[in-house]
This record gives sequence, structure tokens and C-alpha cells, in this order.
Amino acid sequence: MSRKILVVGAGQSGLQLALGLQSHGYEVTLMSNRTADEIRSGRVMSTQCMFHTSLQHERDLQLNFWETQAPKIEGLGVSVAAPGSHDPGPTQRAIDWVGKLDGIAQSVDQRVKMAGWMETFAQRGGQLVIHGAAVSDLDYFARTYDLVLVSAGKGELVSMFGRDASRSPYTEPQRALAVAYVHGLGPRPEHPDFEAVRCNIVPGVGELFVMPTLTTSGRADILFWEGVPGGPVDAFKGVKDPSEHLALTLELMEKFLPWEYARATKVELTDANGTLAGRYAPTVRNPIGRLPSGGAVLGVADVVVANDPITGQGSNSASKCAAAYLSSIVEHGDKPFDEEWMQSTFDRYWDTAQHVTKWTNTMLQAPPEHVLNLLGAAGQLQPAADRFANGFNDPADFENFFYEPAKTEAYLASLTQ
Ligand SMILES: Cc1cc2nc3c(=O)[nH]c(=O)nc-3n(C[C@H](O)[C@H](O)[C@H](O)COP(=O)(O)OP(=O)(O)OC[C@H]3O[C@@H](n4cnc5c(N)ncnc54)[C@H](O)[C@@H]3O)c2cc1C
Repeated sequence: MSRKILVVGAGQSGLQLALGLQSHGYEVTLMSNRTADEIRSGRVMSTQCMFHTSLQHERDLQLNFWETQAPKIEGLGVSVAAPGSHDPGPTQRAIDWVGKLDGIAQSVDQRVKMAGWMETFAQRGGQLVIHGAAVSDLDYFARTYDLVLVSAGKGELVSMFGRDASRSPYTEPQRALAVAYVHGLGPRPEHPDFEAVRCNIVPGVGELFVMPTLTTSGRADILFWEGVPGGPVDAFKGVKDPSEHLALTLELMEKFLPWEYARATKVELTDANGTLAGRYAPTVRNPIGRLPSGGAVLGVADVVVANDPITGQGSNSASKCAAAYLSSIVEHGDKPFDEEWMQSTFDRYWDTAQHVTKWTNTMLQAPPEHVLNLLGAAGQLQPAADRFANGFNDPADFENFFYEPAKTEAYLASLTQ
């Protein structure tokens, strides 16, 4: 008899797991609080730029349905505004380079991907339940399933999972987030022949990420501000009107990042739901959730490790978590999914996730001198630019050249000998 698994939450991790388990012959029920159509016609949820390893997990499951349509992102660039240069007068760039990615990155609007994957899951015979699950529902269902996986993102169900204070240095949101999906953005004149994610850092103020995507109306670009709380970019809270949101996005670009604004003068929103604003505190949780009647459920991806999107890792981590959990489930065969197995399944994921959390939490701080030296040197040393860019695919590599001044110096010296 095939094993019965309940997956609660149909985002990157939940759908990838549900479809993966389904292809291995498990009897999967997927609970989603929205239908595919509601997701497709709803608000944007992320910027969801994914790098090689996580895209490969999707390819391995033959879920890369949009790979040929989505823009192929070949580079990742970093620009740093010269501190204070915007006050008064136009901002200067202290740093500006682009690194080449070893494998392409892609962003497929989650409205497109999750709606499409959910329909595929149902077409393949999966049981889809449209219901916003409460803890009491899970308490009831847990008894009839061999395993309950909670992949409901940062929503209310996280209350079942205790916060791991030792792995969560922040108790407050570290950035105010503001996203706008646009058509009509021009190329960066420095590399008109290839697509790149552009990270623009304004020290003390925040960051603007610009990235190509595939959305419901085809190719588009995303303008994504991360504002330091209380600073000039933390200005989107009361803005309800999407065109006002875009106007504010552009106004801040003109003030702080005129080189990005220069290619954005003709943009318009992709659709009335193409904007998003919010904030959350980065949080790592205990992986095992407690049900009122004593049963245990396993948390997946953002439920257990939610990092700030400053490093664009959440969807990547969700894909990596889904892939790791899928292997753990399949390898476990017919044995019971007890708490010991749950803990070791999470620990296996944490082996890679801990590097993402460490790097992301570091990037939320003002960069120390050795990091500014590294970013500056990457403008002259292409291998350093390429290595930093490829760190977005494998953040574990930052251990080797990023955190400790001595390692950064040794790395830079090795490039100039
Ligand atoms: C502004 C922004 C920009 C980002 N940019 C990037 C980026 O460039 N690259 C990157 O890799 N990551 C990025 N991320 C992070 C990424 O989007 C998330 O980390 C990722 O989507 C997490 O996947 P998940 O499967 O854990 O949860 P989610 O994708 O959040 O999916 C959870 C699903 O569960 C549903 N749900 C919630 N509660 C219930 C319930 N009670 N019952 C049933 N269903 C429920 C939700 O509606 C949702 O569909 C960004 C995030 C934000 C906010």
C-alpha cells in the first residue's frame, strides 16, 4: 500500500514536494488556501530569482515548464553608491561591475509557476483540497496520514513551530520591502547583450534589485527596493494605489540610483496586482510542529528558515529543502516518520541552509571594510566578481573568502600574484 502524505501550502516548496512525491508513487494530498486561478490573477508574491542548483532540482523532476520562455540571466552585478554623494547633487557610483554566472538564473513569476504546477498536480491525479488549514484541521488530519508536511510559508501556521533564538539574531524586520513588476525597462548600457540581476547598494539607505522575469503578460522586469527601516526608502507603508507605488519607486531611483533610473523612464506596471510591500523578521524555527493532541508535523522551507530576501535565496532554499526532504522520505522506505527522522531530515537541510542564513544576516549589516575592499577589487578583478556572483548559487563558498578579513585578503592576493 502506498504511503499517504499531506502537504499543507502550495508554494515553491510544497508544490515541488507534492509533485516529486507523486512521481515516486506516494498518495499525496495538497492543501492550498487559494485556487490556481486565484493565484494567477492575484498579487505578486516575490521576485523569485533562482540560480543553477535550485533550477536543476526542478529540471530533475521535469518541472521546468517555463525554461525556454523565461529570460536567461547570465550575470549578477553589484553597484555601490558613493556614500553621501546624493546629498546634495546626483549620486556617484563608487563600485560597478558584473560577474558571470556559471549556470543561468531565472525568475518565473510565482503566479505563473504555482498556478501551473497546481494544475499539473491535479491533472496527474493528485488530491487538491482548497482550504486554508487551521491547526485544528491538522490535528484531525494528522491521524489519517503517514506524514504531514507544513509548507505554508510565513503564514499563521508558523505558530506551531517554536522560534530558535540561537539561530535567529533579529527580532524585528531589517528591511522594508517594495516590489514593482514593469514592462518597458531598457537594458543596462554596460551589457546590452546579456541579462543580469543588478544589486544596487545605497549605504545606510537600502538596496535596489533589478531583475528580468517571466510574468503573466510575458517578459518583464522587477524593481525591488529594500529600505532600511525608518530611512528614506521605508516609505511604502500607506501606499495603496499601484501607480503611486511605481511613482515612488522611480522617485527613489532618480534620487539614489540615477544610473538605474535612466533606463526606467518609460516603464509601466505589468498589471494592477504587480506591486507588493511588506516586511518580516528573519526567523529560524524548530522543525517539528506540535499539534494540540500531541502529534508532530514537519516544517518545510520558509516555515522553518525564513531569511530576508536581500540575498534572493528563499525560493532557492525552498527548492533545495524540497529536494532534500524528498530524498529523505524516499530513502526512509516503509519505516515510520517519527520525530527522530523529522529532526535528522531537517538537520540534513540545515547543512546547506545555515550558510544561506549566515550570509543573508551578514548582508543586512553595514559592510565592513574588508567586504568593501572585496567588492571594490572585483571591479578590476573579474574572477572575484564571478566568484561573488556564483556565491548566490552556493552561499557555502562565502566561508572561504568573505567573512574573515584574513581570508578575503589572502583570496585577493592570490588573484594578483
Ligand atoms: C519581496 C520578496 C522578494 C523575494 N525575492 C526572492 C528572490 O529573488 N529569490 C528567492 O529565491 N527568493 C525570494 N523571495 C523569497 C521566496 O519568495 C520565498 O522564500 C519562497 O517563496 C518560500 O517558499 P515556501 O514554499 O516556503 O513558501 P511560499 O512560497 O510562501 O508558499 C506558501 C503557500 O502556502 C499557502 N498557505 C499559507 N497558509 C496556508 C494555510 N493555512 N493553508 C493552506 N495554504 C496556506 C500560501 O498562500 C502560499 O501559497 C522573496 C520574498 C519576498 C517577500
